Amino acid sequence: MKKTVRDIEVRGKRALVRCDFNVPMQDGAITDDIRIRSALPTINYLVDHGAKVILMSHMGRPKGEAKMEYSLKPVADRLSQLLGKDVHFRSVPEVVNQSVADEAAALKDGEIMLLENVRFRKEETKNEPGFAKELAGLGDLFVNDAFGTAHRAHCSTAGVADHLPAVSGFLIEKEVKFLGDTLENPQRPFVAIMGGAKVGDKIPVIENLLNKVDTLVIGGGMSYTFFKAMGLEIGTSILDEESLELAGNLLKQAEEKGVKILLPVDVVCAKEFDNNSEKITCKRDDIPADRMGMDIGPDSIKLINEELQKAKTVVWNGPMGVFEMPNFAEGTKKVAEGLANSSAATIIGGGDSAAAVEQFGYADKMTHISTGGGASLEFLEGKVLPGIAIIEDK
Ligand code: AMP
Repeated sequence: MKKTVRDIEVRGKRALVRCDFNVPMQDGAITDDIRIRSALPTINYLVDHGAKVILMSHMGRPKGEAKMEYSLKPVADRLSQLLGKDVHFRSVPEVVNQSVADEAAALKDGEIMLLENVRFRKEETKNEPGFAKELAGLGDLFVNDAFGTAHRAHCSTAGVADHLPAVSGFLIEKEVKFLGDTLENPQRPFVAIMGGAKVGDKIPVIENLLNKVDTLVIGGGMSYTFFKAMGLEIGTSILDEESLELAGNLLKQAEEKGVKILLPVDVVCAKEFDNNSEKITCKRDDIPADRMGMDIGPDSIKLINEELQKAKTVVWNGPMGVFEMPNFAEGTKKVAEGLANSSAATIIGGGDSAAAVEQFGYADKMTHISTGGGASLEFLEGKVLPGIAIIEDK
């Protein structure tokens, strides 16, 4: 178990908190502030318990330069609005300088300060000890609450912990609880659903999950590489040639381990990668040479949903079809619906499946929706995430 802000005395201490304020922006305005709102429980806890709160984050990819379009000023303003109190913010290109250090040192208990975008410094993403030390010099303890960057060892996500005691905030605590503990100790049957297009990216995840799950559902664009590995014809469907052999090996591994693999039995095909392209449903061994699979078919949906009804734990990563096109979204939508109606613990790995669950209105029916795309995939791969490894154990 990792220590959280609850496990450390914060009163009167300067808490250096890594948040994920990497919000979408358009013309200088924040278009979605969910990441800022999600950070409030940890910030409020620290304020209520008398800490001096020093927040840091990155936004976008300024690539080590102080490009003002990536300034965190709009975040400071929005945060101040949401909290109903002042947020000290000093935009300096070097992120930390003497005046910033003085301001941080002068904070009173319960006051909040936000640093400028840590990626204004090129040392940040290289985890260079000098910048990590400058940042750490502002605080007495480190709170990591940025799951989206926890798979990166940067100065503000990992390096600072060389100098300060490190605990997690509530967001990381929740991710570790659901992605970590559930995976280690799932209620069975445990079903994983993998989809999306890039088989290559997901092979390590599948390999890891094969040691844990009872059933692995494979859908979406990646199923065609598996079909091909099984000797089926896939028409013009998306194929990852490089992963073909690995896909075949994974099927063999699953058999050896006694894991049930559920691949689509029917698919919805189109001639073009276009929402308006005429669609037909065919069995998976009957895909016409001039068509591509764009979604799973109704028989597959039924089989997956039967599996979901029996499950006690479900992890889902990746859409079942080209869900961005309404005519090919049915499979993804029905799987989201199946999860919403299931009594299992339902965990949605970030990225497209999280977007799909939101889009179809089932977000509040899920046990946990991970906020980190890359980070949650690495978690599911069983990798050690540097930003979590540095958090002290209880
Ligand atoms: P990934 O980034 O690997 O999770 O892939 C997500 C993308 O896979 C989404 O943008 C989907 O549109 C795409 N996708 C899902 N099914 C298919 C398919 N059958 N053919 C092509 N792309 C697909």
